[in-house]
Amino acid sequence: MIKYTNFWIFLNNPKYWDLEKFLSDSKETSLPLTWTIPKFQKDYFYPNQYGVLRVGKDKRTLKELGSNKRLESGVYAIVQIISSAKEKNEEHAWDNIYNLNNESSYLRGQYCIELKIIHNLVDAPLFFKDISNIPQIENDKYLISGYQASSIPLSESCFNKLLKISNLDIVNSEKNDEYFILTGLEKEIISKYRVGQTNFRNNLLFHQSRCKICKLSNENFLIASHIKPWSVSNEFEKVDVHNGFLLCPHHDKLFDGGYISFKDNGEILISPLLNQADQLLMNVNSKFKIKLNNENLKYLKYHRENILKK
Ligand SMILES: [Zn+2]
Repeated sequence: MIKYTNFWIFLNNPKYWDLEKFLSDSKETSLPLTWTIPKFQKDYFYPNQYGVLRVGKDKRTLKELGSNKRLESGVYAIVQIISSAKEKNEEHAWDNIYNLNNESSYLRGQYCIELKIIHNLVDAPLFFKDISNIPQIENDKYLISGYQASSIPLSESCFNKLLKISNLDIVNSEKNDEYFILTGLEKEIISKYRVGQTNFRNNLLFHQSRCKICKLSNENFLIASHIKPWSVSNEFEKVDVHNGFLLCPHHDKLFDGGYISFKDNGEILISPLLNQADQLLMNVNSKFKIKLNNENLKYLKYHRENILKK
């Protein structure tokens, strides 16, 4: 008995389906791709489900391989399902070019879904030899050992693990019902934005109303800048109001980039990499001194030792 999960494994046999071409072509287009599914599964597909493209054994002959390399078994893409199942018609016959079966892949009575590749792993697939001993992954028997169909459910914990390995995350945009998969850097920016904007900045604004250094007071320009960077802070430090200064754009950039820091008594330290002319242009003066509290000091020590450019 198959348990449906809202996540899918799409199984590729490179002997019958030109996956390399399919994945490289899909880099060029944002149009939905169609995928033929077994009729008995037609009621289980919905928009906004997710899945992975999987390759099992590549049994192509040398002649069939041509200039392609033999594919190792693994996950080659992360996809989003964007339509429910529909009966195939002539419009869906475009995928014949990927079908190596010599017969037309368009047959009346077949069903297909539309999907979008959200993360193309063709250049860096997740090989089963590297990931199959991870518990959430080895427990998904269909992913590792395959199945005789073009699609089969994938366990949610396995899907989440695959996202994690790829350093991806799914977020739901608040404006509409769209979901996005985030890559590493985007993920960090979004998290920084979320923590920064919702809690951290508000807390800082509650305690300060001006740039810590130059007293600029227009709230629209004030940035919540972490002293010990967000990316290396623990959960507490990320939102600790003492780990932040409210700064104007110039001073945020300089502090964040390690061009300035502060002694425990509040006197400014200027990196030798910031020349006199730029100091003047960016409103840095060696006489600047800021007010600190005791809780700021451990974060500033980190900043002086690890961020300040010497
Ligand atoms: Zn300033």
